[in-house]
Parts: sequence; structure tokens; C-alpha cells
Amino acid sequence: MPLFVEVALPVPMRQTFSYSVPESVTSVPAQGMRVKVPFGRQQLIGLVIGTSDTCNLAPNQIKSIIELLDDEPLLPDSLYKLTVWAARYYFCSLGQMLSQALPVALRKGAEVTADTTIFWSLTTSGNAASLDTLKRAPAQKKVIEALLKTEMTQEELTSLALSKPAMKALQDKGWIAKHERTNKIDLSWRDNLELGEEPLTLNPEQAVAVATLNQQSGYHCTLLEGITGSGKTEVYLALLESVLKQGKQALILVPEIGLTPQTISRFKSRFKVKVAVIHSGLTDNQRLTAWRQAKTGEAAIIIGTRSALFTPMAYPGTIILDEEHDSSFKQQEGVGYHARDLAVMRGHLEKIPVLLGTATPSLESLQNALSGRYKHLELGQRAGNAEKVRQGIIDISNQPLKTGMSHALLNEIRIHLDAGNQVLLFLNRRGFSPALLCHECGHLHECDRCDAFFTVHQSLGEIRCHHCGNHYAIPRQCHNCGSTMLMGQGVGTEQLAEALEKEFPKYPVVRIDRDTTSRKGALEGHLNAIHKGEYKILVGTQMLAKGHHFPDVTLVGLLDVDGALFSADFRAPERFGQLYTQVSGRAGRARKPGTVLMQTHQANNAILRELMHKGYGEFARAQLNERKQALLPPAWHMLLIRAEAHLAIDADNFLSQVAQFLPQNEECEVIGPMPAPMDKKAGKYRRHLIFQTKSRNLLQQAFEHALPQIEALPLAKRCRWSLDRDPQDLL
Ligand code: ADP
Ligand code: ZN
Ligand code: ZN
Repeated sequence: MPLFVEVALPVPMRQTFSYSVPESVTSVPAQGMRVKVPFGRQQLIGLVIGTSDTCNLAPNQIKSIIELLDDEPLLPDSLYKLTVWAARYYFCSLGQMLSQALPVALRKGAEVTADTTIFWSLTTSGNAASLDTLKRAPAQKKVIEALLKTEMTQEELTSLALSKPAMKALQDKGWIAKHERTNKIDLSWRDNLELGEEPLTLNPEQAVAVATLNQQSGYHCTLLEGITGSGKTEVYLALLESVLKQGKQALILVPEIGLTPQTISRFKSRFKVKVAVIHSGLTDNQRLTAWRQAKTGEAAIIIGTRSALFTPMAYPGTIILDEEHDSSFKQQEGVGYHARDLAVMRGHLEKIPVLLGTATPSLESLQNALSGRYKHLELGQRAGNAEKVRQGIIDISNQPLKTGMSHALLNEIRIHLDAGNQVLLFLNRRGFSPALLCHECGHLHECDRCDAFFTVHQSLGEIRCHHCGNHYAIPRQCHNCGSTMLMGQGVGTEQLAEALEKEFPKYPVVRIDRDTTSRKGALEGHLNAIHKGEYKILVGTQMLAKGHHFPDVTLVGLLDVDGALFSADFRAPERFGQLYTQVSGRAGRARKPGTVLMQTHQANNAILRELMHKGYGEFARAQLNERKQALLPPAWHMLLIRAEAHLAIDADNFLSQVAQFLPQNEECEVIGPMPAPMDKKAGKYRRHLIFQTKSRNLLQQAFEHALPQIEALPLAKRCRWSLDRDPQDLL
């Protein structure tokens, strides 16, 4: 029996903690088991990462663990290693990373294995009872009605939101009763896979892709670049069939917004197997159940959003990431891990193939595919029948705008609405401060020292270059034509929706953005209503571009093309290209050809022209070259250090001191400190420091070396600061 354990705790401190094992603990602690320990005045649950017979701490300093919660490691070795790797890569505490990897219920101490399940059913008297007697007790009536059809588990009843007091009342009457049953793990799918429906006959491109994928064994990563509607999902299904036939499980990751009932049902109806669905709308218990089903192998398919990446599989077969370019795969708060990058790492560790699918590859994946690190498969034809969309540019230089909309666009909207169709309007306001634009001549104010646009900082009253720090007071007149009609601030989605309601009172408007969809189920409700045709005008951010088919939308308008293209964020053109391509693929279907219109002051802009005429593929390859020349990701590697403080000078000084610990030479670059694009938020000043290196390893080594010194800085305690490796948003 070891005398001491080293424990990773879910606290931000980048260290582990030693505890002694008291005699009262009878089973043997080992790596990967949970322990409950005293920590300050609280009790925390952490994971054992090692055991030992000796300890460096003085006997009076060391505390004992309170309880050992498991008798075997929670995570398979591969996932444990993945987490350790991720904590190191993202420079976060191992305890925080490990707790990301576990369902909340387990973090709180729930049992891992459920040996029994509790079922509720009607008793004989419950069956005989007349529902009329429950007229005055509608809640009780609902319970009886639910149980008349079939017996249910506690979780199923909870998910129907049935009233607990009503159940108690019925139990007291002897109408319903609970009973326990031992769980049997059903693995029959591994020997005998049954299909729920016949697969489609693959077209030649799909057949080549599937054949290539089926030849792979062990770790491989493949980028499946297929235009919208080219039948990528059908390729996933064909791959799944052969993986499941080998008795192996598949993990499918989709963007936050992509996990709709339609998506799930495509996988559920093809195979007669248990599908575990994992997303943020589940209760802690439902999530744990899904996790268990995956871990035991009972669930053949696991489908979920970002955090489902850490779901253990008893028989790992493959990992598929759909819409791999989607930014929701990167966690923005807390530990900023990227599920795509970790999925590839997991594939390595579990020796299974990884498939990344998209119509619009991220430049990261594209680079890997072009360099040969990933296999590259392409689907260039539409599988279903749909017509090509009509594309157009509306030049709004010097045009009067009504809440951001030109006459030409308003007219077009009216025509489509009057024809009984739906209209979709995008305003890509992700919170970037915009460039300074002249409304008369379209001139964009550019840094005199860099090939970059100035960013407007309304609250500071200045324009600033985010590449060199160069800044001036906001000019009153256009540097090109002298006009005073300079615009920086644009319209938001809320204002736009209001204006449309006034302009088209007969046609109901729905707005889809983070604000209107934060409530559980809200997005789904909106989407259903859109499909039923209850709304005619759809206003949204890029959330609306993902994975949804709106057959009655015939007009898509992109309002703020300039703001999306010319922001401080170097990823802005890439994101815009993805958005544009995704929406063009969605506008109109077989029966109704679609139109996509872009409003811009830059009607001759090369990026726009390239996108329209050559498509995303060529556009993205050109962008990749630009990134290489500018030494930006994915060519170079980036770490963003954010700091915020009540006094701007604290944040500035802190980051200046950080900069001194970082090397600067031909292979390492330090940029800043500089104000964040949103430089002040909630009374705090926000500052950025960017550390860039030519190689991944160099970044790792240099920053690992600097980190202890940074943590020891007195100012580190006066600022809130965080590290974002491979940042997706320079906010
Ligand atoms: P993607 O995922 O690439 O956008 P989908 O897999 O959703 O494309 O396919 C688009 C449409 O084409 C779907 O309605 C699908 O059922 C249909 N489809 C896909 N592959 C085939 C095929 N081989 N034969 C006939 N229809 C197909
Ligand atoms: Zn500059
Ligand atoms: Zn001008």
C-alpha cells in the first residue's frame, strides 16, 4: 500500500498536491482514480496521478485524503495521456484539464458503474384506476398517461418534466411503484449489425472516398473536402457501417449548432444500434448515462459537441468531425482547447483513423492536407439535385442606407417575400471593432507602417493598428477624398430586426444570434418555426449558416461584408469565405433557385471577386499563401496572453514584464502589449500580448521556461490574465 498520493485538483494553480493515505482507506489508490481531499476550507474531488512511499513535505504539513472514490481508473489510458498532453500544450493546470474530460456528475462524486436501474410502472390498481378520478389532479394524470404506454426509468420521467409531488402522491395511493433491475450490458451489435434502412448507391466520387477510408487501419487523418450537398454525410454513414461491422465504436463530433434532431435521426435510422447523444442541454445524470454507455461499449455510436471528445470508448473505431472549420470546436472560456486538434491527437493515441469533413476547410487543415500530413479527399459534385445560385454584389458607396440596407437590397427583399418565399439576412457582428470606412469614396484607412487596416476604438477616440501599435485620433475627414462621412460603427442584429419589422409589417421576423438562443431549446424552437414557415424574414449571425437547410429561403443578403472582411482579426477573410460559401450552398434548393447578394463599399475587392468566381477552394489556397508571407498561423504558431485590470497601467506593465521573459529573434516574435479590439469591458481595461514562433516546439519550450517567472510576478496577482494557445478569436 503506497503511503502518499499525488493529486491533480480542479484549481487554476499549475501544480499537483501531495496527500497521505490513512489506514482507514482499504483499497489501493492508483493513477486515474478519484479521491476526495481537504483543500483549504473546502473539500475537493481530484484525480490521483501518482503514488509513492515517500513525501518531501514535513509530516505536520501533509493532510490525509478523505475518501477513495473508485476501485479502478476512470479514464482509459489513452484518454488519460491525452489530457496530460493537453494540459501541457495549453499551459493549464492538469486538474482543470482532467475535470474538463469528466462528466459533471463524476466530478461531483457520482458512482461510475450503475449496477441497477430503477424503473417506474403502474401497479394493478393503477392500471385499473379510472383517469376521470384525476380530473382535478392534472399532474398526476400526466404521470399515469405516460406510464400507461410503457414503464420508464427515473431519468426518462425526469426528462418529461413530470411533477415529483404528483409521483409521490400516486406512490402513496399505491397506483405506481418502483422496482430495481440489474443492468445487463447489451453488446449484441458487435456480432450482428442490423441496418435500419438501405444505404444509398454511392456516386463514383463517394465510392472512391469510402474505398480509400476503408483501406485505412491504425492512425490516419483524412480531410474530406466536399461542397455543400455533395453527400459527405453519406460517406460518414458508409464508413460507420464498416467500422461497426468490425465491432468497433465511432465518435462523431458536430458543431454546437449542428446537433439537431434531423442530424441525429440520420445516424439513428441507418443502424439499429444504441446511439449516445451528448450535448450541453443534458442533465448531469443523462450525461453520465451516455458516458457509461460509451465506456461499456453499449452505445455503438457516440455523437456530440465539443466536450464529447473526451468520451471513453471500450472499442474505439474511428473519430469523425463534421464541419471541422467551425469555431465552436475551440472552447473560448477556461481551458481553451481545440476539439479538432485534440481529436487528431486522440486518434494517434488510440491508433484509429480520424476523418475531418467540411465544405470549407480551415486553413490549418488545408495546410496539413496540402503538405501530405493528412490524406485529402474531395467531393466536387452535388449528390442531390440543386441548381447553382445567382450571386451579386450591391455597391453601396455613396448610397443612402436604411439601417444598413440599401434600396436595391430592400427592393429585392420585397420581391422575394411577395412571391411567398423566405429571406435570410446575415450580419456578421462577432464583436470585432470595425475598420474606418469612408461612405463616399469607400476608402479604408490603412496603417502607414503596415499592410493592415486601422481599427476604430470608439471609447478611446482613436484608430489603431493591431500589427504595430501605431495610433491616431479618429480623423474627421477621409484621407482620400476629404469627406466627413466616415463610418466605423455598424448596425447590430437587434436593430436590423426592428427595422425590418417596420419596413415589412406583414412578414414576421425572427432573429437568431447568441442572445436569442441562449435559453435551452430556444434555437430548436426557432428553427422549427422557420421550417413551418411561421417566419418569413430570418435575421442572424453566422450561427444560421451552419448545417441547416432552409428549402424556402430564396434570397440571402450579406449586409456587413466590409466589417467582416476588414477587421483586426487575421482570420476575418477566412471566416467570411466560409460563411459566404456555406450560405451560398443553402440558398434555394431543387425547386427554387436562390440568390445571394453582398452589400459592400469595395465592389472591386479582389477577395470578393475571387470567392465569387473561383470558389472557396482557390480562395483558401490564396489566403494560406498570404498567411505564410505574413508569418501568421497556421504557418507560424501563436499564443495570446490576455490581461485585464481596473487600471490600464497594471495590465500594460504586467504584459511588458511578461514580454521580457520571452525570446525575440528571427524565429520568435513578441507583439504588444496593445489594447484588445474591445479595449474596455465592464469597467476593466483589456490588453493583449502576442507571442509567435516559427515552430510549435519552440513555442512550447520558450513559454514553459517563462511561465514560472510570469506566475511569480507581483503584478500577476493584480490582473486577471489568461493564456490562449492557437487563439481563434482575437477578442
Ligand atoms: P453534405 O453532408 O455534403 O452537405 P448530404 O450527405 O447531406 O451532403 O447529402 C445531400 C443530399 O444528397 C441529401 O439529401 C442526401 O440524401 C443526398 N445524397 C447523398 N448521397 C447520395 C447518393 N449517393 N445518391 C442519392 N442521393 C444522395
Ligand atoms: Zn501598423
Ligand atoms: Zn473618402
